[in-house]
Amino acid sequence: MPALIIDNAYIATVNSRGVEHPIGHVVIEGTRIVAVGAGRAPQADYPGAAVINATGKLVTPGLINTHHHLYQWLTRGFAQDSILFDWLVALYPAWSRIDADLTGAGAAGAMAVLARSGCSTVADHHYIFPQGSGDIVGSIVHEAASLGVRLHATRGSMDLGRSQGGLPPDFAVETTGAALQASADAVAAHHDPSFDSMAQVAIAPCSPFSVTSELLREAAILGRDLGVRLHTHGSETVEEDAFCRERFGMSPTDYLQDVGWLGDDVWMAHCVHLDPDAIAKFAATGTGVAHCPSSNGRLGAGIAPVRDMLRANVAVGLGVDGAASNESGQLGTEIRQAVLMNRLRDGADAMSARDGLYVATMGGARVLGRQDQIGSLEVGKLADIAVWDVSGVEHAGIADPVASLGLAGMPPLTALIVNGQMTVSDGHLTRADEHQIARRVEAASAELAARL
Ligand code: ZN
Repeated sequence: MPALIIDNAYIATVNSRGVEHPIGHVVIEGTRIVAVGAGRAPQADYPGAAVINATGKLVTPGLINTHHHLYQWLTRGFAQDSILFDWLVALYPAWSRIDADLTGAGAAGAMAVLARSGCSTVADHHYIFPQGSGDIVGSIVHEAASLGVRLHATRGSMDLGRSQGGLPPDFAVETTGAALQASADAVAAHHDPSFDSMAQVAIAPCSPFSVTSELLREAAILGRDLGVRLHTHGSETVEEDAFCRERFGMSPTDYLQDVGWLGDDVWMAHCVHLDPDAIAKFAATGTGVAHCPSSNGRLGAGIAPVRDMLRANVAVGLGVDGAASNESGQLGTEIRQAVLMNRLRDGADAMSARDGLYVATMGGARVLGRQDQIGSLEVGKLADIAVWDVSGVEHAGIADPVASLGLAGMPPLTALIVNGQMTVSDGHLTRADEHQIARRVEAASAELAARL
């Protein structure tokens, strides 16, 4: 198979030394990066290669989204001014009427927007499985493969209904046993642990206020037996903190540690309300964090202490979170959001544009346990690459191309390459019809509303 050369671009490798080449090249063969370097590509060494002339472009690793609820693409624009608990209570009835077909439509819309904003790897957290709703995880896996993005599907669950002191209505939860069995089944059906894997599965009970302690304990044991990662929400709001202290007599972090949920195979969404002691526990155990600044802003949850997490060497990735609490759903714009919000929290040196790019790429790879395969532009790694046009009227002349992503508006996406294949070209999906996806989302949103 002939090579693909990206030539004459500004290359931000995001490797461990933060190497950047103001004029550089990347060469891809098959699914792998075979050369990254300064200067023009030695094109004669690659006869028959296809060449992308990337003059005026910024080349970064493909962005990694570490937390999402793809189905929520169908429920954007509701409960616009609510805090998390009120927002959840408003949306549970709609979500508990979802099925595999509707989820597929929402997933296609959400992943189309992610890909068009530079995202090559998508982690999804699906935790609502109504009776008779079909193969929801299978439909998400199918849509990711159709679009050409790398997927980390997590099989979520809820088993703590309102009658037992939880937040979700009883009709929205599963039994503990059914949730565990279905989680094991999803791993068996869809988890590919290989280096080039385009689909992995993790086990993901939803949150301390929607899941029993028994399910958390058993899910951690199951995930470790099966050799897959564990994901949940943690320390998102002051209300969750109060819930844990009242019900368990502990902070969310201490509670999650108590049920086996700190470790280098765990990542947690939000972590807004971590104190220094909790950050030290995340660092000591290798527990990862999915930072979701827009969603935290939308729900008024607070700003996660990412500066302190990074200083403690906690693995921090970026997430858009579900589109019901972040109607944008774009990952490229989330870099600037993270930079600005962390500066509002901790001052102008709290997060640099390069910290933002790191969190969106290599940080996310660490969070997903894929640091040897994705997240940086290095020889031997998988060819997941974003090519941004910084030569247009929005960015031309900017002193630092990386600041285009971290401080300016998201640049137009010239190309997104995933596993060596073109997924986005000239800003548009190459393998799917965006117009068709939009109409499908429209019809599915209307269908879901009609079921209420
Ligand atoms: Zn979430």
